This record gives sequence, structure tokens and C-alpha cells, in this order.
Amino acid sequence: MLDSRNNYSKIITWIVTLAVGGATVMACFSQTYNTQSIIGLCIAFLLLSIIGLSFKTNTIQNLRPIILLSSLIYFGFVAGGCNCILFYFQGFILFIIGETDFWLSFVVIVTVLILSVIFGAIWCGWICWLGALQEFIFQQNKWNLLKTKQIRTILVYIQTGAFVALVLWIIFTQRPVLCAYDPFVSIFKIRIFNWIGYITVPLLLISSLFIYRPFCRILCPIGWILYIVKFIPFAAKLKLVECVDCGSCNTYCKMNAIHGKQVDKTCIMCGECKKEGCSAIGI
Ligand code: SF4
Ligand code: SF4
Repeated sequence: MLDSRNNYSKIITWIVTLAVGGATVMACFSQTYNTQSIIGLCIAFLLLSIIGLSFKTNTIQNLRPIILLSSLIYFGFVAGGCNCILFYFQGFILFIIGETDFWLSFVVIVTVLILSVIFGAIWCGWICWLGALQEFIFQQNKWNLLKTKQIRTILVYIQTGAFVALVLWIIFTQRPVLCAYDPFVSIFKIRIFNWIGYITVPLLLISSLFIYRPFCRILCPIGWILYIVKFIPFAAKLKLVECVDCGSCNTYCKMNAIHGKQVDKTCIMCGECKKEGCSAIGI
């Protein structure tokens, strides 16, 4: 029974990978709408599927810093950080309320959701250039605030409130409101566009020094959605099977997502907890 389920899931994951690979090739030959963005996205989704398929191997884990750095350099600094996941989220909401020009955003967010159900929150842990920027700034050995469960529960409430407020703001204004205030675009373009940027850019950079991925944990709407996705019973998520509660994995988890023998829903599937080679960690 278990074997046939595993085979079934392998077939699905290979179909998804081939479909995304095919889309990448098609996009490369396409000269239509926003071709460059589509190619970039297809590559990102292809990469996500490959990481998902090989998540358990050490080889892919060792490549994580390189993958994150490449994403940061290419999608962030070379592409200028625009058309990021925050833009697509806003376009997704606008498409739902009838702005059909934002069809690409709808496709992107639905694809991220489907891939997250199949592979877990790999987008956040491995691909997202906004997360990568915060991760490279973080000084892991000196500071690690927000460790306690109570504080992290409060953060989830704050993130929920921010999500609802953002959705309402987009619906009422009918435009991608965040773009004018997005500190990531200012950092990637190395240019501050308005006075708000003089507050948000230093705030993001300084808080990222002391807190692991502060934007992801407090404000990001995609981070919140991928948190909610983990409530779906069949969605992929990290599990500790036959864990002896030695705590070694916990020392590597900068999200502080491991509590005893449980992994909570803030896990971003970075896989860093596998570094000790613990066989109890699985999906
Ligand atoms: S939470 Fe948001 S900003 Fe952070 S890695 Fe995920 S999508 Fe990117
Ligand atoms: S439990 Fe922590 S270290 Fe392990 S994959 Fe999740 S976020 Fe990463």
C-alpha cells in the first residue's frame, strides 16, 4: 500500500517536473508577453521541482547556499528584483477581482501553491531571492531573537493581520499597492525611490542582522499562505519519524520550527536540520 502510494507520488512529481521543464523550453522560444519573466519563472519552478525530488540527498543540500546566492544575484540584482513574488501576489488578488491583465500573476501563485503542496515550502527555503537576501545578512551566531513559542505564535497573528490588511488595501485601491513601498526593490536597484524607502530599507537590513528572515516571519503574504497550506492533510511537510528527541536537528533550525519531536508549520523546508544526517527526518 505504502509502496504504491510512493510510486504514485513519484509519478506525479516527475510529471510536474517534465511539465515545468517543457514550459521552460517553450518560454525560451516564445517572443510573446513578458518573455523574460516567464523564462525566469519557469527556471525557478524547474529548480524547485528538482530540489523537491532530490530533497533527501546530501548533494542537493550542499548546493543550497549556491542556489540561494544565484537566485539572489540573478533574480535580485541582475533582474532588479521586480516581478517578485510580492508583485505576483498582488496581481493574483487583482486577477481574482476581475483584472484579467494579471493572468500571469494568477498562474504564478497557483503554481507556487501546487508545488508547495507537492514538495513543501521549498520556494521559501531555496528559491525566493527576498528570503535569500535576509538569510545572507543574518548573523546566526551572535543573535537569535524570536526563539520562544509564544513570540512566534504572536508573529503568526501579526502576519495574519498584515495579510488581511494587504488584501483589503489591494481590493480597495485596485492596484499593486506594495510596489511603491517595497524595500527589496530599492536594495536590488540600489536606489531609494521615496522618503518611505529611507525608513523601510534600513529597517529591513538592520532587523535582518538580528532576526532570521524578519520580513518572511512577520509580513510576507506568501509566507503566510505557505504556512496555511501546511494545514492541508496531504500537503508535503517535514516530519520527525522515530525521533529520539536528541535535539541535534534543533541546533541547525534558524526558524526555531522544531519543538521536541514536532516540526511546526513555520518550517521553510531549508533542510538545514538534516546536516547531522539524522534518519528520523523525512517528508
Ligand atoms: S516568506 Fe515571502 S519573502 Fe520569505 S522566502 Fe517566502 S516568499 Fe520569500
Ligand atoms: S525544521 Fe527548520 S531547519 Fe529543518 S527544514 Fe524546517 S526550517 Fe529548515
